[in-house]
Amino acid sequence: MEFLVTTADYVDFILNAGKKIAGEKDYISSLDAATGDGDHWVNINMGFEALAGMEATLRGMGFSALFKKIGLTMMSRIGGSSGILYGGAYQAAGKILPEGSGIPLTDLYQAMDAMLTDMMKRGHAQPGFKTIIDALYPAVAAFRESLDKHEEPLVLLKNLKQAALSGAEKTRGMEAVKGRASYQKDKGVGHLDPGAVTMAWQIECLSETLAAKAGNYEKPMRGGERKNG
Ligand code: ADP
Ligand code: MG
Repeated sequence: MEFLVTTADYVDFILNAGKKIAGEKDYISSLDAATGDGDHWVNINMGFEALAGMEATLRGMGFSALFKKIGLTMMSRIGGSSGILYGGAYQAAGKILPEGSGIPLTDLYQAMDAMLTDMMKRGHAQPGFKTIIDALYPAVAAFRESLDKHEEPLVLLKNLKQAALSGAEKTRGMEAVKGRASYQKDKGVGHLDPGAVTMAWQIECLSETLAAKAGNYEKPMRGGERKNG
């Protein structure tokens, strides 16, 4: 039996990430005030609030439709650079995901890789430019590596989270090449990139939401209760 991610799990993640972001108004606003125009929290929080308000609708959807809907909602509600980037990325992933409501981790990897590719293309950004990409890129790379090594879901999810969080942390020393921080004299050096931080938190929430489920899924197997056939 393979570990499957369901659309219900993904909606749980969206709600958890929304709660985490909602509680961090001052911190994220101060990061964007230092490197940009101060609105990143307002932008991203608006998107997650809109999604939370659509919970019932989202829960009934298959993966492809869910991602397209999240993309359209983020595009219209987040605003700013991040709205366009998240909106485009979710819609790109929606095009390659299956219509069903359960996917293996390999499909989730494909979706995250499609999001990364779309964001990098749309924003003309590479790793090291002090953006959202600096959290997403290492997370996707860690996901790939864990899949290649056939690691257990719990190990894979932990690697994914750690790669995103340490990627975001590294933006402190980076000079911004894209986004508003690149117009500043110091290019934002010494400050974390707010977009990288909120992306890392989302990946952390995704990892933890799925790990809670993977923990329950793995225990019976270790206890020898797994039924054959
Ligand atoms: P805006 O910059 O339009 O005010 P936000 O404040 O919502 O939009 O988002 C700012 C974040 O967007 C930055 O911290 C950075 O991570 C991200 N960002 C900006 N431009 C780009 C880009 N071209 N590629 C990737 N991420 C970007
Ligand atoms: Mg801003």
